[in-house]
Amino acid sequence: MEDVKCQVCGKTVSLEIWNQAYEQFKHSRDHAFICPTCQARIRAEAKDSQGH
Ligand SMILES: [Zn+2]
Repeated sequence: MEDVKCQVCGKTVSLEIWNQAYEQFKHSRDHAFICPTCQARIRAEAKDSQGH
């Protein structure tokens, strides 16, 4: 189990719970970890801004 801190909301997330997020995190060590909740929100916001 590995705890990482979301760079967006600052919440500590246990990656044992978020297996899919952990897979992404392992492949992007140099990038900021963003928790699934924030990822979903960012994706929704991106979709909104691209919808025009
Ligand atoms: Zn977050």
